[in-house]
Amino acid sequence: NENRAWSLVDDYIAERLIPHDAVLAQVLAANWLAGLPAIDVSASQGKLLQLLVRMNRAARILEIGTLGGYSTIWMARALPYDGRLISLELDPHHAKTARSNLALAGVDGIVEIRVGTALEQLAKLEEEGTEPFDLIFIDADKPNNPAYLQWALRFSRPGTVIVGDNVVREGEIIDYHSTDPRVQGVRAFYDLIASEPRLSATAIQTVGSKGYDGFLIGIVNG
Ligand code: SAM
Repeated sequence: NENRAWSLVDDYIAERLIPHDAVLAQVLAANWLAGLPAIDVSASQGKLLQLLVRMNRAARILEIGTLGGYSTIWMARALPYDGRLISLELDPHHAKTARSNLALAGVDGIVEIRVGTALEQLAKLEEEGTEPFDLIFIDADKPNNPAYLQWALRFSRPGTVIVGDNVVREGEIIDYHSTDPRVQGVRAFYDLIASEPRLSATAIQTVGSKGYDGFLIGIVNG
């Protein structure tokens, strides 16, 4: 079946382009042992995030939705030694697991996990007068995606890259009758981006080990 081919092709891609990484394998095992849901990005998506960090020479990254820090580690590894990644997570157990994983990966010195609702933490960042970020990855509770985008724009400069995961949801996002708040959140996210002259964006449908979904990638215009 289709899904099986997607997964096998993902394996093929990973075998050739993404060398086996003992640390990342251990991170996924630690997440499983800690009972975290396996809703992290796939290896090829993690690598894509890392390539975006490099392409944009990002030194400051904001992530909304840490889980066990799998995507965090992919991105943090591409940061310069004086770079910084702030990742926001609601669940203290997820954050605790992520902190241990970040230490294992040796990126705990440049990554800070802040626990609480992302909306609270974003307001706090603003109070602190945080500098703009070079890349912002939105991957938490989807109903809040429009609010996260507004915050992302406040923390941006021309050239900031904004990425959102799960923007296709097995095609459910074209169902305007959907009562699923995640679908509604993602649809409102598209509408907001469509009406936002500061952003230029596209979305790419993805298939693979994580099923049928999509990545939205945008850049803040100069
Ligand atoms: N980016 C991670 C990765 O690829 O490894 C996956 C993140 S997972 C899809 C979403 C995370 O967002 C979960 O850990 C969940 O606890 C967290 N979350 C849910 N609602 C949140 C909220 N209101 N504020 C902050 N984090 C939230």
